[in-house]
Amino acid sequence: MKFLQNFYRSFSNDIGIDLGTANTLVYLSGKGIVINEPSVVAVNQKTGQIVAIGAEAKKMIGRTPGHIKAVRPLVEGVVSDFEVTEEMLAYYINKADKMGKKMFRPRVVVGVPSGITNVETRAVYDAAKSAGAREVYIVEEPMAAAIGIRLPVHDASGSMIIDIGGGTTDVAVISLAGVIQSKSLNMAGDKLNADIVSYFRDEFKILVGEKTAEEVKIKVGSALPLEEPIETPVRGRDLVTGLPREVVVTDSDIREAIMPSLKVLIDGVRQVIENTPPEILSDIMGRGIVLTGGGSLIRGLDIILQKVSKMPIYVAEEPLTAVARGTGIILQDFEKYKDVLVSNDDELPLR
Ligand code: ADP
Ligand code: MG
Repeated sequence: MKFLQNFYRSFSNDIGIDLGTANTLVYLSGKGIVINEPSVVAVNQKTGQIVAIGAEAKKMIGRTPGHIKAVRPLVEGVVSDFEVTEEMLAYYINKADKMGKKMFRPRVVVGVPSGITNVETRAVYDAAKSAGAREVYIVEEPMAAAIGIRLPVHDASGSMIIDIGGGTTDVAVISLAGVIQSKSLNMAGDKLNADIVSYFRDEFKILVGEKTAEEVKIKVGSALPLEEPIETPVRGRDLVTGLPREVVVTDSDIREAIMPSLKVLIDGVRQVIENTPPEILSDIMGRGIVLTGGGSLIRGLDIILQKVSKMPIYVAEEPLTAVARGTGIILQDFEKYKDVLVSNDDELPLR
């Protein structure tokens, strides 16, 4: 059995997938991250058929005829639309597998949000299998992120990761190869975009799309006042005249827009810290808390978190790719990391 497994493994691709609420990244052995696209699927509502996946589907948001709808199958960190998730996963697995040009079907590690239920985990497992994966393994995203940034996850001392994505912020404490405590907050990048849309409507009386709001957030969003204020022009539709209008917004406007949500996020993090056992807290004190995910790039968020938590806070290098890199490291050094997986291909159920 073992011999056969090793034989297959030496002639097949290893594929790692970060199935994020906002972005899906795919790692391919020997190549690194080969796919990095939004987790968006465009569906024809009339026929139920999928029209586009990934970047192409995201471009369609707000630009499609009424019957074509762009959906994000993993909103809020849960598999809200299983069939669409399945097709998206199959599309990415096959796309990456073709790039690798190997004889046998691939071995796949999929990162899933830590709040996911066993039923959903099973669904992701089945989806990857039906997409043609020979072996499928599931890992919780905060664990993959911790491995991606090379935290010592096997040690008996605790580490804390805060992964701020699109749909959710996952706070996890890791020790002895397991997630010993975690909390998933429905407060992350998407909510900030929505706040910015509301702010434009209420304060400037213009309507802007979510995509524009996200661009503004990335350009001038900050959690703290900046030494040099920044501004950016924004185009939207005037709610009174119905015609296009341009306004110039500053970091201070956007801060006002996103502050209430940032407070909720910070409070959530604080609660997890308050519930962490003192021994582990002292480990984390020494090592610091690491931020990953795209949302960690909001200017000054690390500094506010540091003030509130009284802990050293670091933003990971390349926070958007930490989970995908983690799946790659797991595949590369499988014997070392197989105990961090929540399911392995021989034995379900999980956990
Ligand atoms: P997920 O894991 O849920 O797919 P990601 O880790 O890919 O999420 O992060 C996506 C989120 O990060 C989006 O809400 C996006 O707007 C936000 N984001 C990306 N870059 C930045 C940035 N420079 N500043 C602020 N937010 C950012
Ligand atoms: Mg993520």
